[in-house]
Amino acid sequence: STKSLVAATANGTRTSSLSSSDSVLNLSLGDPMMFEPFWKKMSNKYNVTIGGGDLMSYFSDSNNVCWFLEPELGTAIKRLHGVVGNAVTDDRYIVVGTGSSQLFQALLYAFTTPSGPEPVSVVSSAPYYSAYAEVVGFLRSELYKWEGDACKFNKKGAYIEVVNSPNNPDGTLREAVVMNRTGNGNGKLIYDFAYYWPQFTAITGAADYDNMLFTISKCTGHAGSRIGWALVKDKDIAKKMTEYITISSIGVSKESQFRATKIIEVVCNGIQNVGSDKSENLFEYARNILSKRWQKLRETIQNGEYLILSEYPQEHCLFSGKPTETLSAYAWLESKDDTKDCNEFLRGLKIIGKGGKICGTHHKFARINLMCREKEFNQFIERLSATRGKGIISG
Ligand code: PMP
Repeated sequence: STKSLVAATANGTRTSSLSSSDSVLNLSLGDPMMFEPFWKKMSNKYNVTIGGGDLMSYFSDSNNVCWFLEPELGTAIKRLHGVVGNAVTDDRYIVVGTGSSQLFQALLYAFTTPSGPEPVSVVSSAPYYSAYAEVVGFLRSELYKWEGDACKFNKKGAYIEVVNSPNNPDGTLREAVVMNRTGNGNGKLIYDFAYYWPQFTAITGAADYDNMLFTISKCTGHAGSRIGWALVKDKDIAKKMTEYITISSIGVSKESQFRATKIIEVVCNGIQNVGSDKSENLFEYARNILSKRWQKLRETIQNGEYLILSEYPQEHCLFSGKPTETLSAYAWLESKDDTKDCNEFLRGLKIIGKGGKICGTHHKFARINLMCREKEFNQFIERLSATRGKGIISG
C-alpha cells in the first residue's frame, strides 16, 4: 500500500546511514543512488545557478501544446534520444511531468471519458510494477479500474495495457499481450520505458510507439528532481495530458526542468566528447557498476540451496555496438522451494525487499534494488553469503 511505501521510505532514510551488521537494510524501493559518485566527482561542472528573479512565471512557452515545458528541456530530450537511439522524437509532442508517475496518471485521464459505460480496465503483465495498481486504485476513480495481470485479462470492451520493457521488477523484455491473445482491439497502450537505457539493456532500435514514457530517475539517477517526459503522437492526447497536469499541479517545477536540461546536456556532451565535458560516458559508468554487481550476486547465489536467479538474453546494442546482456536494475529472487516466502527469508537476514505478491505474482519471488549505494550492495552480499553453510544457503 502507499502507507507502507511511505513507511519504507522513512525507514530507508533512517537506516541507510547505519553500518552495523544489525541494521535493517532497506532495498525495497528503486532509489538510484549508484549514480551518485559519477555526479559527485565533478560536481562544479554540473552546478546550476538560479537567480532570485529567474524562472518565476507559470508559463514557459504559450505557443506549445505543453505550455509549461521549458523549450531548452524539449531540445535536450530530443538530443538525448538522438544520441542514444532509443526512441523516435520526430512528429511527437513532448509532455513534461513531475516524474513519469504523473504522466502515467495523465495518460489514464487522456484515455478515458466520464461518459464511458463503465470504468476502463487497466492491465499489465505480471509481475508488474506495483505502483501501477496503487495509482489506478488510489482515488477509486469512475474513469478506470485496475484489473491486474494482462495475461489473464479476458473482458470485452475498452482497456489500457501498460507495457514496461525492460520490466520492473523482473528485467524481462516485454511486448503488448492482450490484443494478440484475445483479439480485443479496443485497447490503448502505454509504453513505460523507464529502463530502456544502455546501462540496463541493449538498445535494439528507436521505439516508435504512440505513447511512450521516460524518466530522468533511472536514466541519470536524478530521481529527486522528479522529471519525466512523454513522447506522444496524437495532439489531442498531448492536450488532455497537459490539461491533467494543469489541474493537478499547474505545470512542472522550472527549477527541476532547468537542472534536468543541464544534466542531460552534460550526459550528451560526455558521450559525444563535446567541449569541456570530455568526461566519462554515464551509461558505460552505470553499466560497469551493474555488471560487477550482477557477477557478484550470481557468484553468491550459485550452488546455493535456497535462491534462484533467472538468466537474461544478450542482443546486439546499437548504442555500444557490442553484444549486450540485460542487466536489470533489480534482482528478482526466487525461492527454490515454492512454499517459501522469499521476502520472509530476506527479512530473516534483516533485508527488506519487495514481495512478489504485490507485483501480481507468487510470494516465492522478491525484488531487491541493485541501483543502491555500493555500501548497501556489499552489505546485501555479505548477508546472503553469511547464510552459506548454515543450512539456509549452502554450496
Ligand atoms: N515506471 C517504472 C517502471 C518505474 O520503475 C518507476 C520508478 N520506480 C517509474 C515509472 C516512476 O518514475 P518517476 O521517478 O519518474 O516518477
